[in-house]
Amino acid sequence: MHDILGEEQEYFQKIHDAVKEVVNFYHFKKIITPILEETELFVKGTGAFTDIVEKEMFSLRTKGGDNLSLRPEGTPGVVRAYIEHGMRNLPQPVKFWYFGPCFRYERPQAGRYRQFHHAGLEVIGEKSSVVDVQIIQIFYGIIQKLKFKNLLIEINSLGDLNCRPNYRRLLVRYLKSRENLLCPDCKRRLKANPLRILDCKEAKCQEVVSGAPQMVDHLCNECKSHFKEVLEFLDEVGIPYYLNPYLVRGLDYYTRTVFEIVEEGENKSQGTLIAGGRYDNLVKLLGGKDTPACGGAMGVERVINAMKNRGVALSQSANPEVYLAQLGVLAKRKSLKLLEDFRIAKIPVSESFSKDSLSVQLGIASRMGVKYALVFGQKEALEDSIIIRDMKTGKQNTVKITEVAKELKKGLRK
Ligand code: ATP
Ligand code: MG
Repeated sequence: MHDILGEEQEYFQKIHDAVKEVVNFYHFKKIITPILEETELFVKGTGAFTDIVEKEMFSLRTKGGDNLSLRPEGTPGVVRAYIEHGMRNLPQPVKFWYFGPCFRYERPQAGRYRQFHHAGLEVIGEKSSVVDVQIIQIFYGIIQKLKFKNLLIEINSLGDLNCRPNYRRLLVRYLKSRENLLCPDCKRRLKANPLRILDCKEAKCQEVVSGAPQMVDHLCNECKSHFKEVLEFLDEVGIPYYLNPYLVRGLDYYTRTVFEIVEEGENKSQGTLIAGGRYDNLVKLLGGKDTPACGGAMGVERVINAMKNRGVALSQSANPEVYLAQLGVLAKRKSLKLLEDFRIAKIPVSESFSKDSLSVQLGIASRMGVKYALVFGQKEALEDSIIIRDMKTGKQNTVKITEVAKELKKGLRK
């Protein structure tokens, strides 16, 4: 877990702003769900046999005896909220975005934190393949806005309850015959979660998998035409993709489309940046009516790291053009009110209330390169006036305190 400070904070903000701008255009509504949810929500939703639920959750028991977990991902909470608030009575689909922390008890390594942030999208209540592509397109737009190039979409279809069980049988039959060649993890997965074997990173498992039957060849007609449409729409919007028949994703709830967005080429970043897919069974599984849905999430820290590595410039925040120097107790007291007036008038002003010497304060003003310094001493405070000093020419001008904001605005516009 880490603090987000300094430069990292600026990247964080930049990403947040990029996400917000793009999703607002597409009329996504922001949702904030609790960070703690009942553990059962993730066991049912994310899936009991996923790495996340088996090994990565931070769970606790409350004094009242409830079992809760820090959310490892956002989707189950959003779906819970959709059901709990009867949102199927709203015009469908409901489109949400969120930006918040997730927690996973992972082995610390590059690009992997125990507290990290997801910027996520969920579209609930629409089965059309257009939605799958729109979600990819929006993430693609966000990441392009952040100056990422050489992006690749990896995509696959996992079928649905109609065709996947049959494929799963074929796959298990194939893998059983080669069980002794699999890693210990995959031997275990063979019973609980055989599809996960397809994306095992172990070389010996990959070798076995390279000869395995592929889901895309065993899709039912509906899933096949859904997937075909997704690929056609991607062609239409000109987003480059790679059909990866071994992409299965780590979560149980996906049906049909799954995707990941990665960076290619010499700037290849640490791991997947964005991942998601369709989850047509999740709403029902969590106690709602049968409702199709699709979504995805961006790993904010991964995006920050990639931007840092590439040296993506941060925009300079507006430097104050005015410095307020004050002398004496009365001036200090009146300065507090004055600063509020400047804030409301949208004039960025800097000050150092902890400094008492005028020369020290003017020195700071000069180093900051401000256009004007305001000198507010005992005499001025008594007379409700203030001196505006032009830092370039050294010319000074005393004005009434009620006029200073107006005078500054005039000068700053020049
Ligand atoms: P991975 O295969 O890298 O473990 P995942 O399948 O667990 O990823 P998702 O649950 O789909 O990841 O989360 C979506 C995105 O969140 C990932 O693509 C990644 O960018 C980011 N992410 C996941 N886990 C972490 C983590 N521990 N620290 C930082 N970012 C993470
Ligand atoms: Mg993971």
